[in-house]
Amino acid sequence: MKYIGAHVSTASGVAEAPLRAHEIGATAFALFTRNPSRWKSSPIKPEQAELFKERCAEFGYTPDVILPHDSYLINLGAPESEKLEKSREAFLDEIQRCELLGLNKLNFHPGSHLGLIEPDKCLDLIADSINDALDKTTGVKAVIENTAGQGSNLGFELEQIARIIDGVEDKSRVGVCIDTCHTFAAGYDLATAEGYESFWQDFDRIIGLKYLSGMHINDSKKGLGSHVDRHELIGLGTLGNSFFERLMADSRVDNIPLILETPDESVWADEIACLKAMAGV
Ligand SMILES: [Zn+2]
Ligand SMILES: [Zn+2]
Repeated sequence: MKYIGAHVSTASGVAEAPLRAHEIGATAFALFTRNPSRWKSSPIKPEQAELFKERCAEFGYTPDVILPHDSYLINLGAPESEKLEKSREAFLDEIQRCELLGLNKLNFHPGSHLGLIEPDKCLDLIADSINDALDKTTGVKAVIENTAGQGSNLGFELEQIARIIDGVEDKSRVGVCIDTCHTFAAGYDLATAEGYESFWQDFDRIIGLKYLSGMHINDSKKGLGSHVDRHELIGLGTLGNSFFERLMADSRVDNIPLILETPDESVWADEIACLKAMAGV
């Protein structure tokens, strides 16, 4: 079964997210549980958390189809210790918010070396940061998102993600989110039938399909290997419709949240309907 949705707004509170997802016909959704561009956020009120859970149950969203995304400020591989500590603190808070909401995943961008440390050292710091947060929490999986490799962002090669997972002690609490735009921009040619198949074979060999815990479904404005992260509406970018048709017919992406992060939320309902039709659900 394909579960398809979008990253919906939490303006006026987290409990609005399942409502907004339901309104656009989503069967999965993503959300921020705190302001993604600030370090500090007020705690989620218990009554908001209860309402969130009630509405998720009402509209049929189990925790398995909900993919919360962490703040953009967090860098779990930060070379400077002060920034690293701040990031680890904020990441722990993000996971605790997921626990409070009864969620079982947190999606995050791995981190950046900022040209100050070796990439491998940065990947090892990221694994340490994940271990630190998992030690202090229960029930939430740390879901590493692949990146386009813009600037000094790591996680654009499957081997880099595998190295992070290798350093995580509790393998049952780590997963991967594949963003289709990032994958293409990173140089994996998902747009052709052969490139598509070889990407998933590489994924299974280097990381393991059992780690696939969610996807971000975006077309790309920029070309193959551009290392530029610019999402485009489904079918209007360099990936194109035939890629999305192939993906929606692929049972390897069954039973995980498939989340749109395309740039125009007024067309999400149409995009979801279109993807559902491709998937035959
Ligand atoms: Zn993404
Ligand atoms: Zn992106």
